[in-house]
Amino acid sequence: MSDLRDLYQEVILDHYKKPRNFHELSGGNRRSDGYNPLCGDRISVFLEMEGDRVKDAGFLGTGCAISTASASLMTESVKGKTREEAEALFEKFHELVAGSGESKAGAGAPSLGKLEVFSGVREFPVRVKCASLAWHTLKSALEDTAETVSTE
Ligand code: ZN
Repeated sequence: MSDLRDLYQEVILDHYKKPRNFHELSGGNRRSDGYNPLCGDRISVFLEMEGDRVKDAGFLGTGCAISTASASLMTESVKGKTREEAEALFEKFHELVAGSGESKAGAGAPSLGKLEVFSGVREFPVRVKCASLAWHTLKSALEDTAETVSTE
């Protein structure tokens, strides 16, 4: 458990215990559901799009600390961003947790800010899916597809 304890940093635990934006949106016009069968994480992402911009974001679901905290931080991070900016952030986040090492984003890429707390996830391949579930679900909501996203 010591490895996991290292992984569950203070910020992650805080967002797990008190998830931000943990609600449906009254003005929401996009919704997508995601499922990670490996861990049992389930999530629904709600977006209020104003043209190409994410005006508001929320989520509901049940899952482990990593998936819940990731969804909480994801909704905070994408509010006010355009679809393109949100997708660029996902790209960068995925590089962080999947640890490909080679940045395709290059200069001018968005700053990850608080999302950096997930850098430890890269050492736990099973947890990468927990951390990225909310983002895959976000992408599907942005693309307005009705299918449930599965990490498998
Ligand atoms: Zn999980």
